This record gives sequence, structure tokens and C-alpha cells, in this order.
Amino acid sequence: MLTSPQFLAANLASVRNRIARAAVAVGRPAQSVTLIAVSKTQPGEVVAAARSLGATDFGENYLQEGIDKQGLVPRVGTVWHYIGQLQANKTRPAAVHFDWVHTVDRPRVAERLASQRPADLPPLAVCLQVLLEPEPGKGGVGPDDLPSLAGVVGGLPRLALRGLMCIPPPTTDPDRQRRYFRQLRELRDELNAAGHRLDCLSMGMSDDFEVAIAEGATHVRVGSAIFGARPAKGGAA
Ligand SMILES: *Cc1c(COP(=O)(O)O)cnc(C)c1O
Repeated sequence: MLTSPQFLAANLASVRNRIARAAVAVGRPAQSVTLIAVSKTQPGEVVAAARSLGATDFGENYLQEGIDKQGLVPRVGTVWHYIGQLQANKTRPAAVHFDWVHTVDRPRVAERLASQRPADLPPLAVCLQVLLEPEPGKGGVGPDDLPSLAGVVGGLPRLALRGLMCIPPPTTDPDRQRRYFRQLRELRDELNAAGHRLDCLSMGMSDDFEVAIAEGATHVRVGSAIFGARPAKGGAA
């Protein structure tokens, strides 16, 4: 099943509209929010079609899958975001092939990214993934350990510490969604008050990006609202 260009164009236009409306509603310019099209599991042809429809930023969760697709999309003007979990022994492809990594959650990962980032590329933009509530199997640094991690990452060469990222526990309650996003914003503000200069909040997905924008998201990561529902992982569907 290949996503049709008409379906993609309509979804992209609708998501862009919703982003603009959510931003303007809280007095922010629409351009203050970057749409990251989360293209995991989508074939390269679909990513290339989204690129020709004007999507510039793509989020991938699996390193090799993302790198394979990059060859099908013009490099110039395209920004590749790695948003999957990172094992410390598999950082090199992320350091070499991506522009951003949103999921740095421990010093060892950051140190390896810094030493592996090629010197001829711009610094790797980094967000620290914060685990707002303990959840088994989910990555992220706890709020208590965040200041020390930010201190380490902020001091590393070849990395540009840009902001915080979260994947809140799933909930359809907009008040709870809002509390999680607000918490991430407050953590960012506290780091900035302590001398950091974080200008990004990577938060909000298909089901909650409008709430995230209301709380200050600068990067929303939207998959299914653009590309349609993904096949269940693990081949169950
Ligand atoms: C899959 C994924 C998304 C996009 O999710 P949708 O609900 O399809 O928009 C965003 N962020 C991360 C980290 C993801 O893994």
C-alpha cells in the first residue's frame, strides 16, 4: 500500500493549518513551530513525495532505515531528525548522518556523539529526552538528573544543546497532556535561568500537538496525521 500524493498533500495542508491556528491562538507566529514529519516505517518514495510537497524536516526512529531513505531525498534543504532510542554502542550513524538527535538521555551517549561527529559538519543539534514519569522501557533522563546532564552536554564540543524533548505517558485527557508539556517548558526555563540557552521544546505528536504548541512547543513530531496509520510494529498487522 503506497500513500497517494493527494492523500499526503491534503494531510500536510491540514496539519500545517492546525499548527498555524494553534500558534496564532497563543500569540505565536506560525513559523515559530517546526513540523517534523515522522516517517518511520514509510517507504523512501513516500518521504520523497512529502519532500516535494514542501516538507523539509523528517523524523526517523531506526538508524539504518532512516539512512537508507536519505539517499532518495535531496540533501540540500532537508533536515534529518533522529528521534529513536539510542544505544551507546550505536551512536556513530546518528552522529554522521543526522542533523539533530532528540533522544540524548545520558552522558555516555552524548560523549560518543560528540567524539563521532565529523569535524566538517555543523555541530549536531541535540535535545535531551526527559522522562516526566517513570515508565518501564522508555528512555529519558529524570527531572532530578536533568541539570547535571545538561551541564555535561553543554560542555561537549561538536554538539549544540538546543532543548528538551518528551514523549509523555499516553493520555487523551487534554488537561493531563497540558500538564506534561507545561512541566517540560518549566524544566527548560529553569535550565535557562541557570545559564543555559535552550531555544527548543520538541513535544507534541499527532494526537496532542495543538496542546503542545499552546505550551510552547517549537518542534512537533507528527507521523500518522500526515502519513496515515502505521502498520503495527512486529508484523502483527
Ligand atoms: C512515532 C513517533 C512520533 C509520531 O507519532 P504519531 O502519533 O504518529 O504522530 C513522534 N515522536 C516519536 C518519538 C515517535 O516515536
